[in-house]
Amino acid sequence: MPEHKTYIVEHLDPELGPWSALEYRAIARETAGCDGVFMLSSLPEGFQVPEELKQESAFRAETRGVEDLYPEGKGKERVCLLDPAAEEDLNPDDKRDFDVFLFGGILGDDPPRDRTSELRKKGFTGRRLGPVQMTTDTAVRVTRMVVEEQYTLDMIPYLDHPELKFGEKESTEMPFRYVKGKDGKPIMPEGMVDLIKKDADKSIDDLF
Ligand code: SAM
Repeated sequence: MPEHKTYIVEHLDPELGPWSALEYRAIARETAGCDGVFMLSSLPEGFQVPEELKQESAFRAETRGVEDLYPEGKGKERVCLLDPAAEEDLNPDDKRDFDVFLFGGILGDDPPRDRTSELRKKGFTGRRLGPVQMTTDTAVRVTRMVVEEQYTLDMIPYLDHPELKFGEKESTEMPFRYVKGKDGKPIMPEGMVDLIKKDADKSIDDLF
């Protein structure tokens, strides 16, 4: 059994937008902290991986899909799909049974469209991270806390649907679950709050 875990996000969206780029960089940095590997799989040939991501030591870009990387009888049984519709929740003992943790490379949507089903159909063993939709970087963070730090899901401090305030009047409610940081705020990738603010300003401008 490999000592260090691999975290794979299978690329499912047609492009990798700025929001995903920030999430993936956060995942790569945190994965380096536990000597793991963070792989973005199923990338189209010639795909331009953002420069900031390429520079992260834990990061690997992969054109093969997860089915080719871990075929039946050659590692598939050691892959765990993090699936909001799975019947069983992830627990610390899953550390023994799985080497690879697989996530859908999908931006969160409200209401969720269940695009994780594209990976579920491939027959990987699924585990849920509780009933609330998380951002992809939060889902990887929570998985790492359970598997590497042996937290149970109910020990982790969460913030559900936090409201981000920008200045006096503007605010945005995020329709996801986050891990609560030591400062009491939701843990988000570096640069994300600015990006959300910029997007919010843009949609307000679009109204006029
Ligand atoms: N709305 C999405 C969908 O269509 O399935 C959920 C996307 S979520 C932003 C991205 C990935 O994070 C999912 O594919 C899944 O791997 C993981 N994830 C997020 N919340 C989860 C939960 N509560 N339980 C298990 N996995 C979760």
